[in-house]
Amino acid sequence: MSNELYPSWIELSKQAFEKNISFLKDYIGKDVVFSSVIKGNAYGHGIGHFVPMAEECGVRHFSVFSSDEARQAARASTEEDTHIMIMGMINNGALGWAIERNISFFIFELDRLKFAVKEAQRIGKPARIHLHLETGMNRVGLEKDQFEEAVDIIRNNHKHLQIDGICTHYAGAESVGNYVRIQKQIENFKEYSSWFEDQGIEARHRHTACSASALNYPETIMDIVRFGIAQYGFWPNRETYMNFVKKYPDINKEHKDPLERVLSWKSHVMSTKEVPAGEFVGYGNTYLTGRDETIATVPIGYSHGFGRNLTNVGIVLINGKRAPVAGLVNMNLLTVDVTDIPNVKKGDEVVIIGHQGEQEITVSSFSEMRNNMNYEVLVQIPSRIPRSIV
Ligand SMILES: *Cc1c(COP(=O)(O)O)cnc(C)c1O
Repeated sequence: MSNELYPSWIELSKQAFEKNISFLKDYIGKDVVFSSVIKGNAYGHGIGHFVPMAEECGVRHFSVFSSDEARQAARASTEEDTHIMIMGMINNGALGWAIERNISFFIFELDRLKFAVKEAQRIGKPARIHLHLETGMNRVGLEKDQFEEAVDIIRNNHKHLQIDGICTHYAGAESVGNYVRIQKQIENFKEYSSWFEDQGIEARHRHTACSASALNYPETIMDIVRFGIAQYGFWPNRETYMNFVKKYPDINKEHKDPLERVLSWKSHVMSTKEVPAGEFVGYGNTYLTGRDETIATVPIGYSHGFGRNLTNVGIVLINGKRAPVAGLVNMNLLTVDVTDIPNVKKGDEVVIIGHQGEQEITVSSFSEMRNNMNYEVLVQIPSRIPRSIV
């Protein structure tokens, strides 16, 4: 598809993704399954483009939040042996659909377990399930007092159930402030999963780790790691990065981040204009020129996710230099001050997120400006902006 039609576009770097998964796979070891978490439209990267790219890089296991995302991922997938796992929402009415398509799903309620059995029976094919245990996050998960009944159901219906996994999720493994709580969850998981084993329930995989827990608590790695944010080239937070570098000084001798951002967001200069000193630029009076200035317009605005709170604060890159937003962020348009950047003209590339020359606008600097987390900024990048692999 031609980017000519679009005011801005997103590029996914396959080489950056390869670098990330090779680093992460080396770290977790080759016997551990790398599951690529692609909820939230692949953290804003776009499921439709991201899945086939990841498959080309050898990924065959994807984790989604919900059944609609599973369908999107299945449509985007081009590999027969790719597996999709639903970690969250699927209605009982969609369980049959998932079973027929070999999609596995988390079980955190007896109701869903019973319904999965019923549907598997009807279809004549086992449901592939993961027992999601409550270990202390207190969000979703089978409670201790439901374990016995779950075991009974599984024993009585072993023909209809394939136990792909036994799993849990940690309540904030990125922050040392949660250390005690995470330790307790790790202990609980060990105890509960062995209990299931003692009852003869053999899950194919034990899995608990997301990016932060895999990086901060290696004992959580087990048989599958569900990597979200890290595969896209972001540390879950600064603390996790610092922690990691301290623990593995060799990895980072040259102070070079082993992770590289996969996503860039780009546009073009739409037009330029000379504005004399002492004039207001754009709507209202938020920006007054302090000198004769060159103002460039960029066809990106709050309708594309470039927040109004970046008014007079945001930065974009043009010709390898930093250009500050001058005036209100409009619905479809930004005005930036390019007085100090020579020869800016219509059609010049503008980087909203990513590299240009020596400069980089990171999502985190973008998000610090917005006072958001990486996760939140990424998923808010609208799905209608076209994506391409570079
Ligand atoms: C989102 C999610 C992950 C991945 O989290 P990251 O911090 O992005 O690595 C893993 N497991 C579950 C259950 C999740 O919801």
